[in-house]
Amino acid sequence: MTNMSDAEHAEDAVKEASDFIRDRVRDDLAAGVTKSVVTRFPPEPNGYLHIGHAKSICLNFGVAQEFGGVCNLRFDDTNPAKEEQEFIDAIEEDVRWMGFEWDGAPRHASDYFDTLYEWAEHLINEGHAYVDDLNAEEIREYRGTLTEPGKNSPYRDRTPEENLDLFRRMKAGEFEDGARVLRAKVDMASGNINMRDPVIYRIVKKPHPRTGDTWCIYPNYDFAHGQSDALEGVTHSLCTLEFEDHRPLYDWFIAHLPTPSVPRQYEFARLNMTYTVLSKRRLTQLVEDGHVNGWDDPRMPTLSGLRRRGIPPEAIRDFVSRLGVTKSDSVEPALLDHCVREHLNKHAERRMAVLKPLKVVIENYPEGQSEELEAVNNPEDEGAGTRMVPFGRELYIEQDDFMEDPPKKFFRLGPGREVRLRWAYFITCNDVVKDDAGNIIELRCTYDPATKGGDAPDGRKVKGTLHWVSAEHAVDAVLHQYDHLFTEPNPGKNGDFVDSLNPDSLTTLTGCKLEPSLGAWDADRTVQFERLGYFCPDLSSSPESPVFNRTMTLRDTWAKIQAKGRGNA
Ligand code: ATP
Ligand code: MG
Repeated sequence: MTNMSDAEHAEDAVKEASDFIRDRVRDDLAAGVTKSVVTRFPPEPNGYLHIGHAKSICLNFGVAQEFGGVCNLRFDDTNPAKEEQEFIDAIEEDVRWMGFEWDGAPRHASDYFDTLYEWAEHLINEGHAYVDDLNAEEIREYRGTLTEPGKNSPYRDRTPEENLDLFRRMKAGEFEDGARVLRAKVDMASGNINMRDPVIYRIVKKPHPRTGDTWCIYPNYDFAHGQSDALEGVTHSLCTLEFEDHRPLYDWFIAHLPTPSVPRQYEFARLNMTYTVLSKRRLTQLVEDGHVNGWDDPRMPTLSGLRRRGIPPEAIRDFVSRLGVTKSDSVEPALLDHCVREHLNKHAERRMAVLKPLKVVIENYPEGQSEELEAVNNPEDEGAGTRMVPFGRELYIEQDDFMEDPPKKFFRLGPGREVRLRWAYFITCNDVVKDDAGNIIELRCTYDPATKGGDAPDGRKVKGTLHWVSAEHAVDAVLHQYDHLFTEPNPGKNGDFVDSLNPDSLTTLTGCKLEPSLGAWDADRTVQFERLGYFCPDLSSSPESPVFNRTMTLRDTWAKIQAKGRGNA
């Protein structure tokens, strides 16, 4: 379990950060520091967005919306080595799916490469930057440690003329990768290591997805992010707490460059979730090493994975808004599940499906006959109306809903017992048919025509209500059931994170029987299979061969976790 003092510490960070940001924006608007608020969501296109990014998306787009401002989408594409168009497309799709729209066209840090280069020359001319010939390892050695100050590089006192000449030659491609870098001349003795002459340009002889072969030098994050903010007129640059130590550098650059505006950076707590990983490096590894079936595998914490699993964006937004009062920055997935169930309980239509079918023959129902019975689509939403469900002589019920020798507490079907079939009739089991191996393969039952709709006119009660599907009309389907991807709350805490992958995170059932209306079901309409859980069609599903993913079971464990005092809300 999480260390409580850490958790409490994180609670303050979350509370302060979210309150602080909105209070700050409100104050800045009231004081006229800014006329309107401009934020940005700045993903690096080197992977798919995940549930952690959802927090940043809801904050950046949400603050802009709440205060009548705008939010830009900006791709932080300063590293040509790892970025791909596939990721750019996926990020745009995911942000829109979350229900947000950015202002104007998507922006890119690479849109500003010309200006950033000019600003680098500006720093050189002002004596605030120099070309360093030390290699990466030497730079690290000279940088010092948290307890020891750094040492000046022997190249630190080059003249602006010499620096300008070398920097232009770096740009012209005269030197190999890593031979020289441009560094800001700040303070090698600073207590903040980020201020010890950070590298701002490096040689990378790789074509860039957007600027092609134009550049062989690229700015570092710290020399691109705040500058892009300033160029876009961003007023409140919201990022995660690990950038807190970069803020003095962010401000230093803004103070030393001829920027058209003065953005300010504010930090908030990163979201972490137990039983999963949220680092892009680890998610990339899961995909590349085939531990999952792609970035949008329904077991992945990616937004595309959650979507494919049938989780609605409204539930994710609700989840993120509740994080403002969580006790820990490491959230249990049960809280997300709780938000999902709460949303789906209100909005998902109900249908019947049988996962492990057992045939039932109604002996007193005429052969060759069938009828349609009215079923309520969603008891929580009258507007969802009703539908007709076919009923006939042969049906399927769940194998688990029958026991030949039932214990006392088992209220479902058994020999000589009567139960209700949902929306249909009471049936009584008269006989059990077995194969040569002794397996139960069929139940012979009778129904009471007077109980149509599910109530007996004589007032007689039954203890169990079962879901069922008409054998003649059933649609065959494949069902994927998912569990946590990892068996450990903190994967990788004791060793390699892949060692705690859950071998049973995916179970596939074939030969499941669905009510006919589920045959051609929209992928974005998660549906409740009565008594079983929430499901939605997989991307691979077709009316000819339906495949459903289990979004989640019906049982909410969140309240229980809270009651035990292990929760975080
Ligand atoms: P990683 O460290 O795994 O590579 P990242 O932070 O570099 O992730 P980006 O694509 O740069 O990923 O993130 C875009 C925005 O989303 C940033 O502002 C970042 O702070 C925010 N973000 C990323 N991960 C989380 C998280 N777990 N919780 C909250 N915000 C996050
Ligand atoms: Mg990043």
